[in-house]
Amino acid sequence: VVAPEPTFVMYRLIATYAGLAYHGVPLRPDFALDLPAMLRSIEQHRPALVFLAWPNNPTGNLFDESAVRTLIAASPGLVVVDEAYQPFSGRTLVAALGEYPNLVILRTLSKMGLAGLRLGLLVGAPGWLAELDKLRLPYNINSLSQASAVFALRYGTVLTAQVQAICAERERLYRALAGLPALTVYPSQANFLLFRAPTAQGPRLFEALRRSGILIKNLDHAGPALRDCLRVTVGTPQENDAFLAALTRALSAPGDTAEPGRTG
Ligand SMILES: *Cc1c(COP(=O)(O)O)cnc(C)c1O
Repeated sequence: VVAPEPTFVMYRLIATYAGLAYHGVPLRPDFALDLPAMLRSIEQHRPALVFLAWPNNPTGNLFDESAVRTLIAASPGLVVVDEAYQPFSGRTLVAALGEYPNLVILRTLSKMGLAGLRLGLLVGAPGWLAELDKLRLPYNINSLSQASAVFALRYGTVLTAQVQAICAERERLYRALAGLPALTVYPSQANFLLFRAPTAQGPRLFEALRRSGILIKNLDHAGPALRDCLRVTVGTPQENDAFLAALTRALSAPGDTAEPGRTG
């Protein structure tokens, strides 16, 4: 299995549980694909599977489409393009399925507000679907999830409106974070924003936010490329305001170290 790194950690975890060799290829400093390095890795390892999260998690960016197409064309095995965040990017490679017999696409309802359903789908050529069908357990998706999904999709306009509201808030939150000179915020086509705190400040900011009752994702320990990085999911306007206020407070109080219990 070959995938860029950092990316969705489950690719590596599940490959490991399945006893497969996993090769991560570092992204460039701006989190773009390193196309020559990916091509070298594919050439060297001849992977049965290439995983590309499009947009990528936890970085939020959408890899250049022509680079993705180059990788699909160069791959000897299956390329899985994981479009978990497609509702927030508005971009899809579904139209390219006919061009590449080794492309399959994953979608999920998880990021559209139905995370508890654990329902997703895979789109690809009938030949591949028939092979994958052989590997499934004989039990189908449970009927309550199926009924819930049919019900939710009947009210698709509600989900679409929610996605639009999240995208608008994402842009507002992005501008607010970009306006804080201490931080580097990365452009996102997903429902979250990744930002980098000043050197050695990431964990302190995370703790200060947590003590303000705001829990975001600390990625400081997720590898050198994400040192001091935090990821915040776009919430309601009120939640985003509370986050920005707490973050601004934490940034202006650098002496307020994260000693649990010190502040009450
Ligand atoms: C959240 C996420 C998933 C999980 O999807 P489920 O349908 O909830 O299992 C898959 N891929 C990426 C990139 C994700 O961020």
